[in-house]
Amino acid sequence: MTPFYDLIIRNGIVVLPWGLERADIGVNLGLIATLAPDGAAEAAEVIDARGLHVLPGLIDAHTHLRDAAQADVESIPSGTRAAVLGGLAAVFDMPNGNPSITTAGRLQAKKDYAATRAWCDLGLYVGAARGNIGDLAALELEDGVCAVKVFAGSSTGDLLIEDNETLEAVMRHGRRRIAYHSEDEYRLRARRHLFHEGMPYATHAEWRDVEAAFLGTRRLMALARKTGRPAHILHVSTAEELDYLHDYRDIATVEVLLNHLTQWAPDAYDRLGPYAVMNPPIRDKRHMEAAWAAVRDGMVDVVGSDHAPHSRAAKEKPWPLCAAGLTGVQTIVPLMLDHVSAGRLSLMRLADLMCAGPARVYGVRGKGRIARGYDADFTLVDMGARRRIEESWIASPCGWSPFAGVEVTGWPVATIIRGQSVMRDDEVLGDPVGRLLSFAG
Ligand SMILES: [Zn+2]
Repeated sequence: MTPFYDLIIRNGIVVLPWGLERADIGVNLGLIATLAPDGAAEAAEVIDARGLHVLPGLIDAHTHLRDAAQADVESIPSGTRAAVLGGLAAVFDMPNGNPSITTAGRLQAKKDYAATRAWCDLGLYVGAARGNIGDLAALELEDGVCAVKVFAGSSTGDLLIEDNETLEAVMRHGRRRIAYHSEDEYRLRARRHLFHEGMPYATHAEWRDVEAAFLGTRRLMALARKTGRPAHILHVSTAEELDYLHDYRDIATVEVLLNHLTQWAPDAYDRLGPYAVMNPPIRDKRHMEAAWAAVRDGMVDVVGSDHAPHSRAAKEKPWPLCAAGLTGVQTIVPLMLDHVSAGRLSLMRLADLMCAGPARVYGVRGKGRIARGYDADFTLVDMGARRRIEESWIASPCGWSPFAGVEVTGWPVATIIRGQSVMRDDEVLGDPVGRLLSFAG
């Protein structure tokens, strides 16, 4: 009998955990059924991936998709649509919306809202707040929750926990890895008076300086060691932290942002003004080079976008009134592919940083690699494609990208989630199929 599959991807170069191989992939019921389907096998859908690389479905573990109340800027429907157009099979969404996700009721409401509206799979962070510490151990085990997020330095929203006593209390409630925004809030406040409204946008990196980030990370590592609670330091932005953290790899994992691998001061501020303002800030080249060294030596576990959209009106204000945060969920894959094309990392390392890494750090079940029995999530890329990133391509309603006009080599041409083609050649297909991810508790 001729074997029959729901989907066969033929003739691609497949990025497997053990190397690049020319292989065909057979998919049944949303799972990878075989890496060697019979040449005569038939399928409901056949994709000819000749000339393309087949990556495991890429994950952006750091996005702020805002919420229905800010749908003119971004929402789960628009942000996940942007994600699949950009070649992502899953995103993790941060909890600092309005309302912030700090209770079981708010989490459930967000899940109900997302249930039929997400174009890609979703993990949801819950926020630690002064009022919910006793609930965190239960909240982190709820379906679809990727981690507790702690804002130890101020950012958008109302979730700030800056003092050691409260941080330690958070660490003592629950056991899964906690994700931290680690800038030191006291130093940020103490130095704020040194700068005044209307100073150049590059002032952002002077105010939120290296020591603010480094001090925040040193304090968190001392508390993580003391309590034994695993930590994931989001958006590590300084050479100093990357050097320091190598002594904490037993308890700490590391995220670096696409922006910190791609943009530097003063160039970004000169060219983009408020559209270069984010937290932690874009810094000088010494830190960008340290981030690349950390990609090469394995210090970096995850690369994310920290997609944080704001309206143009909110961005185009004098410093420091301009909203901090940049869009990026749709552009992270093309820009990382461009870095691959430039020889800065391999496709295997990219799959490690944007699929296997997030799966390992957060404990995603059934994703993280192309292997038999895993979810049939794929990002098909054309490494020969030369494209310019245009704002007309951006699906987020805010409509802007700090990378508009950038030419890249390498482009995502298809996104497949659990065997279903959801994007092909810049077009979104069918209806939203996104589900909540499952995490090992
Ligand atoms: Zn963020």
